[in-house]
Amino acid sequence: MVLSAAESCPIVARGAGSGTRVVRVGDVAIGGPEVVLIAGPCAVESEPQLEAAALAAKEAGCRILRGGAYKPRTSPYSFQGLGAEGLALLRSVSARLGLLVVTEVLDTADVDRVAEHADMLQVGSRNMHNAALLKIVGRQARGRPVLLKRGMCATIDEWLLAAEYLASEGCHDVVLCERGVRSFDPSTRNLLDLSAVPLLRERTRLPVVVDPSHGTGRRSLVAPMALAAVAAGADGVMVECHASPREARSDGEQALSPIELLALGSRIRRVAAAVGRAREATDGSGR
Ligand code: PEP
Ligand code: MN
Repeated sequence: MVLSAAESCPIVARGAGSGTRVVRVGDVAIGGPEVVLIAGPCAVESEPQLEAAALAAKEAGCRILRGGAYKPRTSPYSFQGLGAEGLALLRSVSARLGLLVVTEVLDTADVDRVAEHADMLQVGSRNMHNAALLKIVGRQARGRPVLLKRGMCATIDEWLLAAEYLASEGCHDVVLCERGVRSFDPSTRNLLDLSAVPLLRERTRLPVVVDPSHGTGRRSLVAPMALAAVAAGADGVMVECHASPREARSDGEQALSPIELLALGSRIRRVAAAVGRAREATDGSGR
């Protein structure tokens, strides 16, 4: 028997007439009229590195800083992140600059600690299918919203069911993040599925954010695909940035420089206006 979306995902499916759920991260609303820009380094490497990236994010008008403390690396010999020290740096730098923090939780044992330090928890692509982690995050997120990235080989249905895992444990404030799927073509790191944005709009009440950094893996493609995501109706965009991309310990080839991020911030504002949206209000100078 094939279940309808409403039957298999009773909480996250878009029922007849129901609007997009507005998910609040601190005082930032995702899923409302404003398009939200989230930026920061792939990984927290040091205080000066995080601070420089966070300043660039703030200047580009971001209210939410991203940055990995626990990094899910393909190789065990690659930089694994600073762990608890990275979380503390995220907290102190964001507090100093008046930013909110989203960071990934990799392990069920770290959920409490990450929820204590972050304003939003991220479940990454490699863990989207990890039901044990989803259940603990759903239960122990302490009221924090969750950014749920699409598994790199996940169908839309599997992704929505992963969101339903969180919701069924009590965490209804879930934002979906399209980050590309595996394809046959190594020209890009992943194949960014922008058709997922309007499709999800039909299928779920949850807001949708797009990550063109992991979606393409190439700096030159990040801004065009970020703008395309906004044109397709995304509620937000998440990008990686680094003050010296060539020195980044992970994903430097897809990191925007501060100047590139600033330019993207104002271009997003223009595309958002063209499709009847606005950029979120900001204290930064990148208006
Ligand atoms: C990230 O956003 O830090 C990340 C590791 O991305 P993904 O889970 O999409 O690969
Ligand atoms: Mn990365």
